[in-house]
Amino acid sequence: MEEGKLIIFSAPSGAGKTTIVQHLLTKIPQLEFSISATTRKPRGDEKDGADYYFISKEEFLHRIAKKHFVEFEEVYSGTFYGTLRTEIDRIWSDGKVVIFDIDVEGGLHLKRKYDGAALAIFVQPPSLEVLKQRLAGRGTDSPEKLQERFEKAAKELNYAPQFDIILKNNDLQTACAEAEDLVLNFLKN
Ligand code: ADP
Ligand code: 5GP
Repeated sequence: MEEGKLIIFSAPSGAGKTTIVQHLLTKIPQLEFSISATTRKPRGDEKDGADYYFISKEEFLHRIAKKHFVEFEEVYSGTFYGTLRTEIDRIWSDGKVVIFDIDVEGGLHLKRKYDGAALAIFVQPPSLEVLKQRLAGRGTDSPEKLQERFEKAAKELNYAPQFDIILKNNDLQTACAEAEDLVLNFLKN
C-alpha cells in the first residue's frame, strides 16, 4: 500500500492537544483522526470506535503479542494506550493524512519510525500551574488521577526540544490558527 503523511500532536495531559486536534479536523478535510485502542473506561460522552477503541486488558495484551500495534504505552499505571497498524492503513487507503493525539513518548516513537513523512508537534502550556488548572477545570478525572497526570506532565515537558515544532498554547484561538498554518504548510510539500 502507498504510504501517506502523518501529523503527530503530543503534550502533557491538559495542555490542550485534544482541543487543537478537534479544531483541525473541522478545518482540514484531508485529515483523519487515528483512533487509539485503550484499556481505560469511556469518559463523559466518549464513544467506542470514535474517540477510542475501548478494549479489555486481556485483549490489549493479546494484540501486543500478535504485534498489532505500531506503538503502545502503559501511559498510566495499569492503563494501556496504543496505535493499531490497521488504523493507519485504513486512513492511508482512503488517501487521507493521519492525525494523532498521543502521549509524548508515543509521539516520539512514531516520529522516529516515519521520519520525514511525519510532522511532530509538541503543545506547550504556559506553565505547570496553568496546566494544573486546565486539568482540574476539565473535570474528568478523580483527585488521584489528576495527581498522577500532573506528575507525569512535569516530566514530559522536558521532551519538547525533541519535536519538530513547539506550539505554545496560551491563547486557544492563536494556537489553533498557528496549528492550521503549520499543518497546511507541511501538507503542501
Ligand atoms: P489534552 O488533550 O492535552 O489533555 P484538552 O484539549 O483536553 O488537553 O484541554 C484540557 C482543558 O483545557 C480543556 O478543558 C480545554 O477546554 C482547556 N483548554 C485548552 N486550551 C486552552 C487554552 N488555550 N486556554 C484555556 N483553556 C484551554
Ligand atoms: P486520555 O486518557 O486523557 O484520553 O489520554 C491519556 C494520554 O494517552 C494522552 O496523553 C493521550 O494523548 C495518550 N494517548 C492516547 N492514545 C494513545 C496511543 O495510541 N498511544 C500512546 N502512546 N498514547 C496515547
